[in-house]
Amino acid sequence: MCDAQDWFTESYPDNGSALSLKIRAKLHEEQTPFQRIEIYDTESFGKLMVIDGCTMVSDRDNFLYHEMMTHPVLYTHPAPKTVWIIGGGDCGSLREVLKHSEVEKAVQIDIDERVTRLAERYFPELCEANGDPRAELLFIDGIQWVKEAPDGCVDVIIVDSTDPVGPAEGLFNEAFFRQCHRCLRTDGILVQQSESPLFHLPLIASMHRIMRQAGFAQTRTLFFPQFIYPSGWWSATMAGKGDLNRFRADAAEAKLFPTRYYNADIHRAAFAVPEFFGDALREL
Ligand code: SAM
Repeated sequence: MCDAQDWFTESYPDNGSALSLKIRAKLHEEQTPFQRIEIYDTESFGKLMVIDGCTMVSDRDNFLYHEMMTHPVLYTHPAPKTVWIIGGGDCGSLREVLKHSEVEKAVQIDIDERVTRLAERYFPELCEANGDPRAELLFIDGIQWVKEAPDGCVDVIIVDSTDPVGPAEGLFNEAFFRQCHRCLRTDGILVQQSESPLFHLPLIASMHRIMRQAGFAQTRTLFFPQFIYPSGWWSATMAGKGDLNRFRADAAEAKLFPTRYYNADIHRAAFAVPEFFGDALREL
């Protein structure tokens, strides 16, 4: 919503709060068959993509989200060769995944091609790995893709989706997690953006419960700051067929590519469990 002449505001009525960013201009707006996409030029966060009134990506802080959705899971898996990104149409997660030389194939499956076309136009730096021969971009429903895929064919599934409403609603339920479990190889890991620990704790707790009901041996949540998302504090939840408590720390410490947030110490710190969060999970 652009509720004043030069401010974009996203309100969180359930939490009596809002985020406002000062804008210079609205650069684009369109209704696709799936959602309404807006692009703004903001005064201090660069370009901003908004879907259905919710902030998705800003130039200034997207590195936090994209690095934390990808590097922790890829360094937790012992040998990630095949990766699916469900959603992720802005291509920022794909770019981070392809920084890992051991990844042989990365498939991005977003329901809405317009998100990617607009990212190519307004966020070209996020799309700079799209031409990598290991990358494949598909524009279909991720729920359908997972349902139709063969057993044991992928090492890591990253669910980089919009909030659990509209087309993304079916990415947060037990049936979807069961299908992901079936598609993952031994040691396979699913990681999913899991909203704000402060605002959406019941959702995260229920994700842990249903991921385990779907057959995953372990679940763990990692935390990171994200200014443009509700509460400024965000999370991703991993579900693994194997052990999620170890990671390839030597490889993370010796990584050959640049990151702006992720490193081995951040990896360890991101999994520290706050008291209120541990209490909520113990009540499951
Ligand atoms: N970082 C963002 C966040 O947490 O708000 C997510 C960004 S990414 C742009 C989200 C993408 O999920 C969108 O491009 C949307 O089209 C896609 N998406 C939503 N439901 C989907 C589904 N069922 N299958 C595939 N992609 C889906």
